[in-house]
Amino acid sequence: MLHNDQLEHWDRENFFHPSTHLAGFARGNQPHRVLTGGSGCHIEDRDGNRLLDAFAGLYCVNAGYGRAPIAEAIADQAKELAYYHAYVGHGTEASITLAKMVLDRAPDHMSKVYFGLSGSDANETNIKLIWYCNNILGRPEKKKIISRWRGYHGSGLMTGSLTGLELFHKKFDLPLSQVVHTDAPYYFRRSNRDQTESEFVAECVASLEALIDREGADTIAAFIGEPVLGTGGIVPPPEGYWPAIQAVLERHDILLIADEVVTGFGRLGTMFGSDHYGMRPDLITIAKGLTSAYAPLSGSIVSDRMWKVLERGTDENGPIGHGWTYSAHPIGAAAGVANLKLLDSLGLIENAGSVGSYLNATMRDALTEHPHVGDVRGEGMLCAVEFVADKVGHRFFDAADKIGPQIAGKLLEQDNIIARAMPQGDILGFAPPFCLTREEADQVVAGTVRAVTSVLG
Ligand code: PLP
Repeated sequence: MLHNDQLEHWDRENFFHPSTHLAGFARGNQPHRVLTGGSGCHIEDRDGNRLLDAFAGLYCVNAGYGRAPIAEAIADQAKELAYYHAYVGHGTEASITLAKMVLDRAPDHMSKVYFGLSGSDANETNIKLIWYCNNILGRPEKKKIISRWRGYHGSGLMTGSLTGLELFHKKFDLPLSQVVHTDAPYYFRRSNRDQTESEFVAECVASLEALIDREGADTIAAFIGEPVLGTGGIVPPPEGYWPAIQAVLERHDILLIADEVVTGFGRLGTMFGSDHYGMRPDLITIAKGLTSAYAPLSGSIVSDRMWKVLERGTDENGPIGHGWTYSAHPIGAAAGVANLKLLDSLGLIENAGSVGSYLNATMRDALTEHPHVGDVRGEGMLCAVEFVADKVGHRFFDAADKIGPQIAGKLLEQDNIIARAMPQGDILGFAPPFCLTREEADQVVAGTVRAVTSVLG
């Protein structure tokens, strides 16, 4: 076995890590960690640390670490048939079964699922399908996509453009011109402090209407949104937001993509965020929770309405010119089938709902009164604490002070708990595996209080 020092040296010399300060990492100023194992909500590293992962990797290890039935399904599939493609009607028992399991769980008006590998490529697929459909329907001008500031939809060319976070655009020549952004439904950060939640929703709606007016409804194909804003700050929508937005979209014949990469398969305590908020999307993006990240797999769930247009398109133009070598990869599909079965048999989605509410309530009780905690919010097994410099004046800390990262660092250092400093704002995010127990939720809250006190007093 390699020495830890040797591994660190190779890591810093050869490995281009995503979302990392590259120069700092190469110079040795950024942390390096080598993970070796995991069980339930905990992971272990090569230095012998055992960490409570209150962010489930990147909110994806929903079933928890070390699940033998998923690992065995992957091994069995790899031994039997590691790969065959899914082009021109090919499949495996696993991919066909998984498609049925996904559709059985999806809202009734959905028709088919296209499998990809990542949330990013699934959203790329979604945009291509929408453009294709509008060409088939004879409206080639109707192509722009509306996304929200603070939305996160991936980091490809189109999906990085849909993402509404500065870091993902800066110096990359994004967003592309086909993407326009509208307001984030972020009530805590509203500019008019006197506004009620319903007045704020009315403002989001008016701002969307104005954007559509400005651009012209006949140029706008779709609106993409996460049921709960995730990477942009873990922000559940204000009451009535989705029905009000959806009414506008319907009036202008604009399709809705529900990006359920985080919320799909139970994170809110319901199967989909679309069920949770009464959304009726034309496309649903799935990834992370589909396999609990045991293997890379994503999907685009397509509605009946869009499917009919896609069928017509291939009658008129021949086979759909879209596919990845690894679409519906058998190993990912086997992981997906085993994962969805495990979520059911262990009641993990119910647990996400009940322990998630407990985590949110306990966090709120423990921190709401703190002079630098502006907001504690969440839904299901998603929770966020947002810090402010001045509560009364509603003034935020200077980003250069890195309050969020400092608190996440303290939590890790003092209590071996992983939370995520969200990228825009001083926001500490929690998205534990669904198997979190109440005792573990108590540990997360107690550790967070200690970390907040250490940094902010
Ligand atoms: N959509 C949402 C809502 C996400 O949170 C993410 C990733 O965090 C993505 C899309 C992109 O998924 P991936 O990183 O698998 O490309």
